[in-house]
Amino acid sequence: MIDLILTVNQVVAILYKGFQAAVQEPRLLGTTENSLGLKAWLNSLGHEFVVSDDKEGSNSDFQKHITDAQVLITTPFHPGYLTRDLFERAKNLELCVTAGVGSDHIDLNAAVDHKVQVLEVSGSNVTSVAEHVVMSILLLVRNFVPAHEMIERGDWAVSDIARNAFDLEGKVVGTIGAGRIGYRVLQRLKPFDCKELLYFDYAALPEAAGKAVGARRVEDLKDFVSQCDVVTVNCPLHEGTRGLVNKELLQSFKPGAWLVNTARGAICDKDAVAEALKNGHLRGYAGDVWNVQPAPRDHAWRTMKNPLGGGNGMVPHYSGTTLDAQARYAAGTRSILENYFAGQPQEPQNIIVGVKGYETKAYGQR
Ligand code: NAP
Repeated sequence: MIDLILTVNQVVAILYKGFQAAVQEPRLLGTTENSLGLKAWLNSLGHEFVVSDDKEGSNSDFQKHITDAQVLITTPFHPGYLTRDLFERAKNLELCVTAGVGSDHIDLNAAVDHKVQVLEVSGSNVTSVAEHVVMSILLLVRNFVPAHEMIERGDWAVSDIARNAFDLEGKVVGTIGAGRIGYRVLQRLKPFDCKELLYFDYAALPEAAGKAVGARRVEDLKDFVSQCDVVTVNCPLHEGTRGLVNKELLQSFKPGAWLVNTARGAICDKDAVAEALKNGHLRGYAGDVWNVQPAPRDHAWRTMKNPLGGGNGMVPHYSGTTLDAQARYAAGTRSILENYFAGQPQEPQNIIVGVKGYETKAYGQR
C-alpha cells in the first residue's frame, strides 16, 4: 500500500488592520481583511493561511502561530518583530517574506543561524518612497504644514509663515544611501535647480548614472552633512546605521538644516533629533518611520517643533504603501511563494538571507 503524503504548509501573515477602509477599498491589499490577495489561492493549494494584526506579547497570534509556521509573511508597516528568541521556538520556519522593502524587523543573524531564508520584494515601493521624500523636503523647506494649520484655525498671518519659508532652488541636498530610493530622489530633484546634489554611500554611482543626475559623492559623513542644507536618509537599517544620525553627527549639520528620514526610525536618535529641532539647530524633520511601530502616543516626534513653531512633517509609516505599491508588493509576495512551493530559484535581488546565508553586503555586517 502506498501512503499519499500531502504537504500542507502553514503560512502566517502579520498585517495591519484595514477596518472599514479595507472593506470599501479592495486594493488595500496589505491589510488583514484583504490578505495580500493570497487567501483563495493558498487555500486552493491546500495550505493553511493564518492572518492577524495581533503581534505584541506572548499571547499574541504572532507568537502563538510562529511555533508551527513554515512561512511567515510580514510587512515593514506593521512589523512583526522576529527576535532570536522567537526563532528558537519557530521549529518549522523555512521562509520569511517581507511584503515590501526592509527586513530589519527580523533578527537576520538569527535567521542565518537557523537556516531560515529571508526574502523581500525589492524595488516594489521605491518610487512611492522617493516621491514622498521629495514631497517632505518641499513641505519642510516651504513651511507648508503650519501654513495649512493656520488656515484651518481660521487665522491669517502671512509673515508668521513666510519668516520660515524658503525656495528649494539654490539649496544643497544630499542623500545618505544612493541605492534604488536615494537615486530616484536625486533624479526627481534635478529639475529643481538645487545648488548641488550630493550623496554618501559605500560605493560611487556608475559614472553615467552619477552624471545623469549631476550628483557629487562625498566620502566622509561629517564632511557630507556639513555641506547640506537638506539631508535625506535612504540607507537600510543595520548594525552600521543604527543611531547613525546621533547627537555628535547632528553637531556637524549646518545650523538650520532640514532632515528627512523615510528609511528607518532607528537610524536617527530620537532624543537627539527632538532636541536639535527644539533648539533650532535643525529647522525641520520629516518622515514616516518610527522605532517602534505603531509609535507610542507620547513619542516626542509626534509633536516636536522648531522655535518658529513648525518644522515637523511626521506621518504614520505609509510612504511605501500607496495603493500602487500594494499591488506591486502583493504580486511580488505571491511570486516568491510560487517559487518556494515549486522549489524554483528566487530572483537574486529579492534575497536577503538565502539558503547559504547572507546575500547582501549591507545586512551582512555581523
Ligand atoms: P537599496 O537599493 O539597497 O539602497 C540602499 C543603499 O544604501 C545602497 O546603495 C547601500 O549600499 C547603501 N548603504 C548601506 N549602508 C550604508 C551606509 N552605512 N551609509 C551609506 N549608504 C549605505 O535600498 P532601497 O530600496 O533604496 O531602500 C533603502 C531603505 O529604505 C530600505 O532598506 C528601507 O529601510 C527603507 N524603505 C522605507 C520604505 C517606507 O515605506 N518608508 C519603503 C521602502 C524602503 P550597498 O548596496 O553597498 O550595501
